[in-house]
Amino acid sequence: MTAHPSPTPALPDELRSTPRTSETSAAGAGTAPTRVLVLNSGSSSLKYQLLDMRDDSRLAQGIVERIGEETSRLVHTPLQGGGGAKRETTGPIADHAAALKAVAGELTADGLGLDSPELAAIGHRVVHGGLRFTQPTVIDDEVLAEIERLVPVAPLHNPANLIGIRTAMALRPDLPQVAVFDTAFHTTMPEAAARYAIDVETADAHRIRRYGFHGTSHAYVSRETAKLLGKTPEEVNVIVLHLGNGASASAVAGGRCVDTSMGLTPLEGLVMGTRSGDVDPAVTFHLKRVAGMSTDEIDVLLNKKSGLVGLCGDNDMREIRRRIDEGDERAALAFDVYIHRLKKYIGAYYAVLGRVDAVVFTAGVGENAAPVREAAIAGLEELGLAVDADLNSVRSDEARIISPNYARVAVAVVPTDEELEIARQSHALVLALGSSNE
Ligand code: AMP
Repeated sequence: MTAHPSPTPALPDELRSTPRTSETSAAGAGTAPTRVLVLNSGSSSLKYQLLDMRDDSRLAQGIVERIGEETSRLVHTPLQGGGGAKRETTGPIADHAAALKAVAGELTADGLGLDSPELAAIGHRVVHGGLRFTQPTVIDDEVLAEIERLVPVAPLHNPANLIGIRTAMALRPDLPQVAVFDTAFHTTMPEAAARYAIDVETADAHRIRRYGFHGTSHAYVSRETAKLLGKTPEEVNVIVLHLGNGASASAVAGGRCVDTSMGLTPLEGLVMGTRSGDVDPAVTFHLKRVAGMSTDEIDVLLNKKSGLVGLCGDNDMREIRRRIDEGDERAALAFDVYIHRLKKYIGAYYAVLGRVDAVVFTAGVGENAAPVREAAIAGLEELGLAVDADLNSVRSDEARIISPNYARVAVAVVPTDEELEIARQSHALVLALGSSNE
C-alpha cells in the first residue's frame, strides 16, 4: 500500500459559482470574512471556539457535555473585548443538533451569531483521515463517505466527528466546512516507520498500519518551536512530546513527521493517563486464553484501566506527584514507568533523526509538570540534553527554552493550541480556494 496524496476535493458548486472576491465577500464591507468556528465533536460532547483570524483572537469558547442525558450542561465563555462572565446552562440536550443550536443561541446573545457574514468557515477536528487525507479538506458528500469508510479503524472517534459535521452542515449548508485530520501531519512518515512487520496482504486488506494521532498538535508545536529557535521549520529537527491525558511523541525532520508513537489507534506508544501504550501483543492472547477475558474486556483494560491509572489508581500527574511526596510506592512506580518509556522514545527518535535541534514538551503534563521534564531529560547529557532547574521551575503560558546556554540541543516548553491550528488551516484553505476562483 502506498500513500496517496489527496487532491483537494472539489468545492461545493454554490461556492464555485460565486467566487468570494473582495466585492462579493459575504462580509460586505470590502473584506473577506475572518471568523472561524472550530468544532471538536465527541460521542457525548461538543467543544467549540470562535476565532478571528485577523489577530488569532478568541471571541468565545465553550463546551456542551453529557449530550443525550437529562443532565446535559453547556458552559459558554464570551472572550471578546476583555471577555464576559461564564454562562452555564443545565438540562436535557437531546442530541448534537440540539447542542449546536444551543451554542448558536449563546453566540447570538454575544452578537456573534452563526448567520453572521463575518463567518468564513467551520473547522472540524476529525480524528482519522487514513492515508487519503493529507491536508485540510473542504467537506462534501464524497469526503463524508470517506470519513465514514474509516470508521472501522476509528470506531470511537470518527462517528462522533461525523455527527458534528452533519449537524453543522445542516445549520449552515452554504458555508465551507473544513475537516482537519489528526492523522494528516503523520502521512509523511516513510513506509519503514509506518509499516508493522506483519503479513503485507493481511495488513493492506484491513488498512492496518501506523497512522499516528495528535497531528494537529505536533504540527503546531514543531512549527512554534522553530520560531522559538529563530529558524524556519525546514531548518530544524525536533522531537515533540505531547503529554496530556493521551500522550504521543513525534520525530519531525525539517517540518515533516518521520515517526510518531501512536499507531493504528491511539493506544500505542507512551504510557498515558488510562492507556497502556506499548505492550507485547501476546499479552492480549494471554489475557484471552489464560485469564478468560473477552476482546471487549481486554479493549477496556488497555484503553481505560491501564497507563497511570492501572499502575497507581490516579491519572492526574499532580495527584501522583503529591502521593510520591508522601512516600507512596505505587505512585512512584507509575511515575518511573512513565518516565522510562518517555526516555526510550527520546532516545529512539534521536537515533531516527540523527541530529536534533530541540526536544519540546507540550500539553497538560508537558506544559505544567516540571518534575516530568526534569526526569525525562536527566542522564542524557551525552546527547547534548540538559534542563536548567531554575528555568524549568518557571510557570508560564509562553513558549520558552528550559535548557542551559551550554546545552547543544534546546529543551523547550511550547503550549499547544489545536483550536488555533484548526482555525488557521481552515481559514487558509478557504482563502486559497477563494483566490483560485477569482
Ligand atoms: P490534557 O489532556 O492536555 O488536557 O492534559 C491533562 C493532564 O495534564 C491531566 O490529567 C494532568 O495529569 C496534567 N496536568 C494538568 N495540569 C497539571 C499541573 N499543573 N501539574 C501537573 N500535571 C498537570
